[in-house]
Amino acid sequence: MNGRTGVVRTAELRANGLTDWQIRKAVANGELAAIRQGWYAVPAADRSVVDAVRRGGVLSCVSALKWHGAWVPPDSRQHWRVPRYRLDSKSCHGYGASPPVDGAVDSVLAAFGCAARCLPDESLVVVADSIINKKLAELADLRGELSVAPVRVRELLGRCDRRAESGTETMARLRFQSRRIHLQIQVYIPGVGRVDLLIGDRLIIECDSVEHHTSRANYADDRRRDRRAVAKGYLVVRLTYEDVLFGWEDAMADILAIIHRGDHLASSLKT
Ligand SMILES: [Zn+2]
Repeated sequence: MNGRTGVVRTAELRANGLTDWQIRKAVANGELAAIRQGWYAVPAADRSVVDAVRRGGVLSCVSALKWHGAWVPPDSRQHWRVPRYRLDSKSCHGYGASPPVDGAVDSVLAAFGCAARCLPDESLVVVADSIINKKLAELADLRGELSVAPVRVRELLGRCDRRAESGTETMARLRFQSRRIHLQIQVYIPGVGRVDLLIGDRLIIECDSVEHHTSRANYADDRRRDRRAVAKGYLVVRLTYEDVLFGWEDAMADILAIIHRGDHLASSLKT
């Protein structure tokens, strides 16, 4: 079996001791489905992987990165890669020579190479941050993968920060930095703990991920941290996933109002 994809080659089935007759029987019983010449899937197989293999390709780009556990922006489209000679407008490909299409899911690096061509600038930095934060690959490896990409794309990796703990945090950071708002990342505040972003001296920005607010323990912990931070003279703005992804203009307007008043500066901070 190919990892946890649920997709397997005939050669792997044979290597595991199955005869051709047993394979045919498994297909007849519904225990395996033939998805392409030489490839089979179990009923519980990952649908996105099955679709990519059925198309003669390999799951790649944003879809493969998500499969490997990287944080990717919401995207309903499936991303796959096919051999160069079969390239069409729906499949993804990276810069330079393509790695062989010989598996069911691309490696993190091959998938990132495709994503560099498929994603807008901000999303590419978000995905790169997640890859290095989750130790799926090193930043140097990502640079190597983009060695033949245009300079503009390669330079995006200079904006990465391995400390970012969520995609929403990276997005917020990049948007503040693009407005030249001075901030620090993952700052430790005694009595409070590490906060995602600190603007100026005392404006804390916490960025919730989708999973984060589903936990009751996180909910209680967040309120306790916020209370302590305010008691010490900090201001806390907590941004939800929806704020960052779908309501950024409103969120930014509120944060700019705080900054324009100078309330992010140290006047009432108690350390
Ligand atoms: Zn793609």
